[in-house]
Amino acid sequence: MSKYSNSALVSVLLLFLGLGVSLAQDFDEVVLSIHTVSGNVSYIEGRGGNIGLFTGDDGVFLIDDQYAPLTDKIVTAIRTLSNHPIRFLVNTHMHPDHTGGNENFGRMGTMIFGHDNVRTQMEIAGYAEQPPLITFSEDMSFHINGETVHVLKVPDAHTNGDAFVRFKGSNVVHTGDVYRTTTYPYIDVNNGGSFLGTIEALNLLIDISDSNTKIIPGHGGISNVDEVTAFRDMLVVIRDRVAKAIREGASLDQIQSGNLTAEYDERWDGSGRIGGSASMLAAVYQDLMN
Ligand SMILES: [Zn+2]
Repeated sequence: MSKYSNSALVSVLLLFLGLGVSLAQDFDEVVLSIHTVSGNVSYIEGRGGNIGLFTGDDGVFLIDDQYAPLTDKIVTAIRTLSNHPIRFLVNTHMHPDHTGGNENFGRMGTMIFGHDNVRTQMEIAGYAEQPPLITFSEDMSFHINGETVHVLKVPDAHTNGDAFVRFKGSNVVHTGDVYRTTTYPYIDVNNGGSFLGTIEALNLLIDISDSNTKIIPGHGGISNVDEVTAFRDMLVVIRDRVAKAIREGASLDQIQSGNLTAEYDERWDGSGRIGGSASMLAAVYQDLMN
């Protein structure tokens, strides 16, 4: 873990804490909405990452839990679909907009799962939230509510603890922030993320999906394999442009100011603070120079 320096972790923590503080005033105004996906799988949109929700007689299964101040609203939303216990919660990765409710759900008796690195990175970052109590290195399966739910570690992408959650019967995949339909990939290099790994992880997503698969992104609306393929293809184009610029002797500054992503920037919020073009290009550069 010495690979991830404390100062870098502090800076990323400040980024998220800063975000948390600015949002604190208006958590009261957040309105949650539940979107049906397929079968008994749905997702809750609110503030932070999309919460996957799977209901049935064996109990409620959740994917991610947004911010702690939203837990009561999240439980109220869940109760419109199921009165069964909220038994299982999987964290797709360690970021606070996906794990902020852990402490609250843990107190309610929900068992929290995540990749080994989710627990490790949350502990290093010193988050107050409860890290997963049960961790896995490669994958694990839940056999509940009449179907198999496969949770699998993917190549290091958004962080080094990313997992996809795949509902084999309902043909749904929740991708965490490896795939977001709102911005370019945000590569958290201080928590082991990788741009090249993101391309590999998207290749895996394409492999395990078919034309009917419903894909729940970490942020944004429901997607499908055609959109993921187009997104992956864009990242390959960007990778190749950065590689060419490096071969021609360009510095990172020159790459970031070289309009390498110009035609994509409007759609993918290229000037955004999280998931913008400059930070993505820095991650591409770092991967290609290593
Ligand atoms: Zn994230």
